[in-house]
Amino acid sequence: MAARVEIRRGRVVSLGDDGSVRLADGTVTRAEQVLVCVGAQTPELLGPVDVEFVPHTRFTYQGADATGAACLAAPEGYGLPLGSTGRWAFGQEIPDPAGVRALFPSLSPVGQVDCVSVHAPWLDAGGDGWMVWRRGRVVALVGNNLMKFGPLLGELLAQAALTEGLPDELTLGDARR
Ligand SMILES: Cc1cc2nc3c(=O)[nH]c(=O)nc-3n(C[C@H](O)[C@H](O)[C@H](O)COP(=O)(O)OP(=O)(O)OC[C@H]3O[C@@H](n4cnc5c(N)ncnc54)[C@H](O)[C@@H]3O)c2cc1C
Repeated sequence: MAARVEIRRGRVVSLGDDGSVRLADGTVTRAEQVLVCVGAQTPELLGPVDVEFVPHTRFTYQGADATGAACLAAPEGYGLPLGSTGRWAFGQEIPDPAGVRALFPSLSPVGQVDCVSVHAPWLDAGGDGWMVWRRGRVVALVGNNLMKFGPLLGELLAQAALTEGLPDELTLGDARR
């Protein structure tokens, strides 16, 4: 794709349904189709969306219990060894490592990544899902656990950008997702 299109990097500050895109440096460009994939920044560009962005923090630990540790899935979060680094990481909504340290006293937190996760009543139990909508020339996507769907979403969103509608597979018959 990079060989076939011109890539310009910039921060988008506003969008118009007519395909106009304003960048932070003041440049305004106009496109036949605009695809918005800005994650947690979606409400800033498009207004309120039917999802809630909640904090999600991943702590990285080292210590005796991190070596050879197993994957762990619990209501509080999920954890797994970081390859062969001898470290173990646990992602959770509460930005406090105390719970893990109480369970595994040998572990010490050595890193912290603060992210967001998406909550919505229409997300399935595992939290996998998305919502796609079109406003004029603009197609926008927001969802949770989208990484695994990357190739599929790429293809379906490309189809959306080539038409004036949205492919059925993208909306699953529901106007919102
Ligand atoms: C700790 C963690 C673990 C995860 N594990 C998994 C997993 O195992 N499997 C899975 O499927 N998913 C996983 N996910 C979820 C997955 O990473 C997200 O669902 C996915 O990254 C969302 O993609 P996105 O394109 O919507 O948003 P993002 O990945 O957030 O991308 C948005 C992009 O838009 C850019 N941007 C924002 N605002 C603007 C602007 N105004 N102008 C220009 N650019 C802008 C940002 O810089 C960013 O590059 C995990 C997420 C986290 C935080």
